[in-house]
Amino acid sequence: MNKMQSGALWGGKPFPDKELTPFSDRLLNWFDQYGRKDLPWQQDTTPYRVWLSEIMLQQTQVSTVIPYFARFTAAFPTVAKLAAAPLDEVLHLWTGLGYYARARNLHKAAKKVMEEYGGEFPCSVEELCTLPGIGRSTAGAIASIALGQRAAILDGNVKRVLARHRAIEGWPGQSRVADQLWQLADQLTPDNRVNHYTQAIMDLGATLCTRTRPRCIECPVQTDCIAFHQGTPQDYPGKKPRKALPVKRALLLIFLDDKGRLLLEQRPPSGIWGGLWCFPQAENEKELEQIYERYGIKPVSRQDAPERRHTFSHFHLDYTPVHVRVARKTRVAEQNVNWIKPSVPVKLGLPAPIKALIDELSGLD
Ligand code: SF4
Repeated sequence: MNKMQSGALWGGKPFPDKELTPFSDRLLNWFDQYGRKDLPWQQDTTPYRVWLSEIMLQQTQVSTVIPYFARFTAAFPTVAKLAAAPLDEVLHLWTGLGYYARARNLHKAAKKVMEEYGGEFPCSVEELCTLPGIGRSTAGAIASIALGQRAAILDGNVKRVLARHRAIEGWPGQSRVADQLWQLADQLTPDNRVNHYTQAIMDLGATLCTRTRPRCIECPVQTDCIAFHQGTPQDYPGKKPRKALPVKRALLLIFLDDKGRLLLEQRPPSGIWGGLWCFPQAENEKELEQIYERYGIKPVSRQDAPERRHTFSHFHLDYTPVHVRVARKTRVAEQNVNWIKPSVPVKLGLPAPIKALIDELSGLD
């Protein structure tokens, strides 16, 4: 498979006068010597653990994921335990990892595995793709790494390697480009040792074929890498067409009662920070008054802190923390409301900016 004939011209430069061994063989040889084999999810490779790691690793560095993976698997060692846990506990263990829809989908998918598959992960890529939050690449990783099936993957690292190796132009978010990359990913996936091959190609992207400074000199597939021969690895994959992110503004209302407690409310289950616990948020002064009314808040004093920015994938949120001291007889009749002491750790899912504000206030307790 994938033999390059001698004299072939790639990117205007001839390749060496010898037949190349298949891409996958070169990658596997390299993996045997240099690949990472001691990551926590590479031990005891069950579909559950591989799935968890793949979801955590989306948009997130390995070094960040390791402690989260350890805490998560200690709390929920099986899919049954995860399905049975309250969503709050799951979100709490996800606090700081971002992209919380991933955690909500994990929880939903665990329930589905329990209810519809009797606690066993389905075996086919097609069925795995029916679980919430599992796309084709994650399904391919579970099927190949945990189940030893010949299935291709195309995560961010693999897209980069393949786009460079074959000089595939364009942004992989476009279906034309994605189709080309999937076709290539499938062609290159070997029949044997597919679990190691999947790890190997992910490792190559993570350790050598990195975004900014690829170490081509050490790369096992350099000989026929077009981008390397062109001297243009950084041009691949093509960038997403840039659009300026819109800016939204909000007031974050930090109510502090005379017992030193802060009010948190749980956000609706879907949407931004869905299911997480936040300070009440108002878009303007009128909404702020409505929140006072809703909670029967009698403000004793108010102090606005300097504005801060939190960037989501599709907008910037410029928020002003508004510190409001409230009178003792504050009525809070609503459900999904909690008064917490900032210095006492809570088992609730918190978005990173809210956690940072609580941490800052814990010193004042
Ligand atoms: Fe990436 Fe360089 Fe290897 Fe090509 S030769 S796949 S650009 S590391």
